[in-house]
Amino acid sequence: MYDLADMAENLADIRERIAAAAARCGRRAEEITLVAVSKTFPVEAIQGAYELGVRHFGENRVQEFESKEKELDCREATWHLIGHLQGNKARRAAQLFHRIDSVDSAALAQKLERLMNEIPDAAGDAPSAGDSKRRDVLIEVRLSDEATKSGAAQADLPAVFEAVAGLTGLRLRGLMTIPPFFEDPEDARPYFRRLRALRDDLWKGTSRADLAGELSMGMSHDFEVAIEEGATEIRIGTALFGKRPPI
Ligand SMILES: *Cc1c(COP(=O)(O)O)cnc(C)c1O
Repeated sequence: MYDLADMAENLADIRERIAAAAARCGRRAEEITLVAVSKTFPVEAIQGAYELGVRHFGENRVQEFESKEKELDCREATWHLIGHLQGNKARRAAQLFHRIDSVDSAALAQKLERLMNEIPDAAGDAPSAGDSKRRDVLIEVRLSDEATKSGAAQADLPAVFEAVAGLTGLRLRGLMTIPPFFEDPEDARPYFRRLRALRDDLWKGTSRADLAGELSMGMSHDFEVAIEEGATEIRIGTALFGKRPPI
């Protein structure tokens, strides 16, 4: 059973730490969106977080979210897909999620673009979906050589950026990354800094003044460092929900 009081305490603690990290670098806490990563956690935990006021959620598997979604009553929530998306799941993903934060190739973006022209609006019903004819997306960038990590290679990023920015069914909102895991979160700082520099370069070089430049970076154990380096979205699972249940 999920103890709402525990979760409320965790949430208050996270919010305090967000505010403190923001204050350290002259930012406002409101600039930072908390995305609760609910993968592997049950519906009751998600519903509980929603009742506590959390409005952004991240799931990493289309099928897992599809089965939970039917039992949830979170009308104003914004759902982010944060895991690698295979082409054969793209249609379902575009229907279920308001935001795809893990676009890692021009081909996937073009596939989503085609689908957006075909599917009647599903996730777009939620008020938070904004412009229902377009899906908000982030480009996921792989900044380390770890073979297991998904994301566009840094060398391919300019081409992926150009491709995604030019599509009409998608709205490019920024970049996302998952640095390698380090015991000491300070060691993740150079990765966060690099993502921000890539965003600055790409965005400076575009004539599209309308492109938002979000930075989705930072997880339970390193979000404060990410905030200091400019994160506008942090993805928090275990610090909010507790230990992840075995799958
Ligand atoms: C699981 C996951 C998170 C959250 O991880 P925690 O360490 O539990 O906070 C964040 N981002 C992605 C992409 C994930 O898969």
